[in-house]
Amino acid sequence: MALTGIQILKMLPKKNCGECGIPTCLAFAMKVAAGQIEIEKCPYVSDEAKATIGEASAPPIRTIKIGAGDSIFTTGGETCMFRHEKRFENATGIAVLVGTDMSDADIDGRIRRFKELRYERVGVLMKARLIAVKDSDGDQGKFLALVKKVLAGADDAGLILMSGKAENLAEGAKVCGERKPLLYGATTDTAAAMAAMAKEAGCPLGIRGANLDDTIEISEKLLAAGLKDLVLDTGARTMKAALENNVVTRRSAIKAKFKPVGFPSISFPCEMTDDPLMEAMIASVLIAKYAGIVVLSDLQGDILFPLLLEQLNIFTDPQRPMVVQEDIYSVNGPAENSPVLITCNFSLTYFIVSGEIEGSKVPSWLLIKDTEGLSVLTAWAAGKFGADMIAQFIKKSGIMDKVKHRELIIPGYLASIKGELEEELPEWTITIGPREAGHLPAFLKEWKPAA
Ligand code: SF4
Repeated sequence: MALTGIQILKMLPKKNCGECGIPTCLAFAMKVAAGQIEIEKCPYVSDEAKATIGEASAPPIRTIKIGAGDSIFTTGGETCMFRHEKRFENATGIAVLVGTDMSDADIDGRIRRFKELRYERVGVLMKARLIAVKDSDGDQGKFLALVKKVLAGADDAGLILMSGKAENLAEGAKVCGERKPLLYGATTDTAAAMAAMAKEAGCPLGIRGANLDDTIEISEKLLAAGLKDLVLDTGARTMKAALENNVVTRRSAIKAKFKPVGFPSISFPCEMTDDPLMEAMIASVLIAKYAGIVVLSDLQGDILFPLLLEQLNIFTDPQRPMVVQEDIYSVNGPAENSPVLITCNFSLTYFIVSGEIEGSKVPSWLLIKDTEGLSVLTAWAAGKFGADMIAQFIKKSGIMDKVKHRELIIPGYLASIKGELEEELPEWTITIGPREAGHLPAFLKEWKPAA
């Protein structure tokens, strides 16, 4: 059961030293209770209290890590049914399948596309995160050769090793070394051997249930055997069944705290259809409804990109606007006679405006004012992008040391504050820029500093 802030406070050393980054132990305890900070941040709390608090404040869906280093993939850690209740913690991992029954050309193509199909949007790198390596016929030699090939070919991929044989997975895990893979999949018959193998390897274990009841039984066995890091495949191989199972397991874990299903799920759209577009649609539904990992048969840009965008939308924290830092940004290598533009720090605005400036090839200074993630008009209406605040920012930003001229281009939507801004910044000429970012290139190509 979750502990209250006061219960947690009783277990803290009460030094009020602030080393956890929070000024008082009481405030720290409240944040731990709300799941906003980890108990480990206090260096003075006893191991016993750490274990008690850690267990009580653990999310109902366990956090599972696959891989190592900078490219570690995290799934689970979820605490709510709907994003607006709090937020979804870890984006669904998109995996591509390679198998020992595929030709070298097919495997090489999938690895190449895994590495090439990457997109940057609003400062976020979007890509597939995992490769599922399938032991299609139980041949250990072939399986290990494929694992090595994937390890060498995709150095930032999290690996899912799939085999019916515990001994093949054990050897595969040895080959992976520090890049701890997900070992999949324990069935009713293999649960005991798989549990021993996963414990020995120190890797998370995937359950391959025949159906939801079977998955729960296997999970209970594995929990009794002392395993903590599990990933659930409920055996569903239709979109309807997979969706239902994902909803039932999420609800049971979060509302009823039913431990055997308190783990992230893995789904296989690649085994639900032969039609790539149908596969993409199934993946899209399962990303929206609680899949921890979806395994695709292949990666193609026209399918992967929309799935990644969907993922970006769903897993963005609704309580925290996407922002860029308040600063002076140089675009295309500006100099002392280059135009100076200003806009808000809503990241979508920043990336659209900076993209258009970049596309214009006109060297420019782009000033980004902190508007707490609000867009231009909303920020102005909320009193965060008014003439006085812009003037204050211009004076302290350091832009006056970078340019000789004193001409500021403001967004077209702020035309009404021109006079006010000129009063606040008497040395500056205020120019109204275009309303739409798409018109910036033509505007900038015509721009000359006032004489
Ligand atoms: S580091 Fe620990 S003792 Fe210090 S204020 Fe934070 S919770 Fe209290």
